[in-house]
Order: sequence, then C-alpha cells, then structure tokens
Amino acid sequence: MIEVRNLTKHYGDKHAVNDISFTVEDGEILGFLGPNGAGKSTTMNMLTGYISSTSGQALINGVDILEDPIKAKSFIGYLPEQPPLYLDMTVKGYLNYIFDLKKCKLPRKAHLKEVMDLTKITDVQERLIKNLSKGYKQRVGLAQALVNNPPVLILDEPTVGLDPKQILEIRTLIKKLGRNHTVILSSHILSEIQAVCDRIIIINHGVVAAHDTTDNLSKNVSTDHRIIARIEGPKDEIVRALRDIDGIKYVKADMEREPGVYEYELEAVPGTDIRRDLFEIARRHDWPLLACRSAEMTLEDVFLKITMGEGIVIPNAEDQADAKKGEKA
Ligand code: ADP
Ligand code: MG
Repeated sequence: MIEVRNLTKHYGDKHAVNDISFTVEDGEILGFLGPNGAGKSTTMNMLTGYISSTSGQALINGVDILEDPIKAKSFIGYLPEQPPLYLDMTVKGYLNYIFDLKKCKLPRKAHLKEVMDLTKITDVQERLIKNLSKGYKQRVGLAQALVNNPPVLILDEPTVGLDPKQILEIRTLIKKLGRNHTVILSSHILSEIQAVCDRIIIINHGVVAAHDTTDNLSKNVSTDHRIIARIEGPKDEIVRALRDIDGIKYVKADMEREPGVYEYELEAVPGTDIRRDLFEIARRHDWPLLACRSAEMTLEDVFLKITMGEGIVIPNAEDQADAKKGEKA
C-alpha cells in the first residue's frame, strides 16, 4: 500500500507540488491525470525517492521513503518519464546489470526470461538497445522496472511517443500487471487513464483537482447534453430544425462525412438529455439518423469544468476543499 501525506515540492518560488495526499490500496491501479507541467513527474519522483520532498511524507508498505530509502525502494519498480537505458548495452546485458544492481535473489535465468516474455522483448534480447524502436525501448524500460518482482509499480507516462498499436499493447500489459501489483500510472490523456485505472487523481498546478473512481468521474463528466449526430439530409434545414429543440444551446454542422451526410454538434443546457428529441426530429422529417454519440470531453474540457465549477460535480474534490478550509480555520 502507498500512502502519501501532504507531499510538497518547491523549487525556489515555484510550487511544483503543493500538499498532495492520497492512498493506493494493494492491487489497485491509480491514474495520475494532468496536463504537462501539472506536477505528475515531480510527485512520482518524490514517491520513488528520486528527489526529496520539501515537506510531507510518502510511505511504501508502511516504510518512509526518506527514512529507509533502501527498504522502501525495494518494494518499487519505477519507470521514469525518460527510461534509464544504457544504449550501448544489449537488452539481455542491461537486464542482467539491473538484476545485479537490485541485488535480486531470484533464479537469474528463469526470472529474466519471465520478465522478457511478459514484456515481449525475448526476440530482441541480443540487440543493442540503441537500435531498438521507441516502442521496444519503452518495453525494456518496463522490463527493468519488473526485475526483482516489486509489488509496487510506478509508471510515468508509459505510452508517450508510442504508436496506437504499441499503446494498446502497453495498456494491455499494465492491466495484466495490475492483477498482482499495485500500480500508479501517469498520463495527460483522459481516455488512456479511463481505459486502465480503477481510480483517478486529476492534478493541476501541483494540487489535486479531483479524486474519484473512474466510474464516478466518467459519470460526472458524461455528456448526455453534448451530442454528435450524423444525419443524412439538407444541412441548413437540419440545423434550423435542431435549433428548435427545447434547452438547446448551440448547433453546429461539422464536415460532410459521406455524400449528403453531415455531422452535427449539439449542446444543450446541462442535465438535459436531447437524444429523444433528436430522434423525433429525424423521424418526422425522414432524415436518416446514421449515428449518435456523446461528444467526448477533452482533458481541457474536464479541466475547464473542474476549475470553473461549471456543469459537473466532483464530490470528493469538494469534500477535500471543505476539509482543507476546516483545517485552516
Ligand atoms: P508533469 O510531469 O505533470 O508534466 P512536472 O512534475 O515535470 O510536471 O513539473 C511540474 C512543475 O515543476 C513544472 O512547472 C516544471 O516546470 C517545474 N519543475 C520540475 N522540475 C523542476 C526543477 N528541477 N526546477 C525547477 N522547476 C521544476
Ligand atoms: Mg511528467
């Protein structure tokens, strides 16, 4: 289990991380979501003892990372944002080196084979790391984190710079690892965190902006009142008809997707579900409704909503804010 209490990092006047607290239970996958510069890497670096904190505490399995770093670090497999690879080593040579560094007591050959099989790098074990693609380098980075079978994995933006197929592979692997590891994973991509994590912490400007289960957070940011509809028929007439829906705020025709078929972006006042009205209009005019989906919220949308307190309720964030006010009072 990981316990973080009031963790803070200042670089001079710069408050990179300010008073962050959370816990991660055994076997949980926690997602750390935030835009670039939010403080994700700084927090992970403090958790793993890579840098020291200005104040606050991080406990790994009850061991304080600053009081007993060797013991605390032995529980952690860390994949930093820039994987610490020695480019002139072969994959196998590098993992053997890591095995020694970690003073691993497991049967060397069998354990390294297991790690390489899991991360699917067995085929490239004799290759120099510098000659590997970005995706393979990332897997070697993940492999070094797995050496010595640490119960806790901390992965900083593990899919950055990978192509969609590689992203899917790494995600699948992380999910698999999550079955018998405690994982903290950072990303600046909402959909990625949603796909993998049980719980999400949104961090912005070094503070926790929201903290909830993935399901609750998705529910809170779900957007029945924002819809993308693909409709066949006369564009201008369709726009006019859609603008008559009760509670509609705006309607915008997007590009022509198929001959005579446009996508329309609709937004109504929050809390209004306009799907039935949309269907009714399409039916009445005999305009085939070819697709209809919730407009996905971008990370920016989520942040704007959270920081401006508009439209969505993040109960836990409010509790935390109240608790903080209480502390100060
Ligand atoms: P993230 O990983 O979420 O992109 P970081 O934790 O890397 O964010 O950075 C958080 C903030 O702290 C950023 O504004 C960054 O510029 C600043 N920062 C990070 N490291 C240092 C450092 N060594 N000295 C000064 N500022 C830093
Ligand atoms: Mg980072």
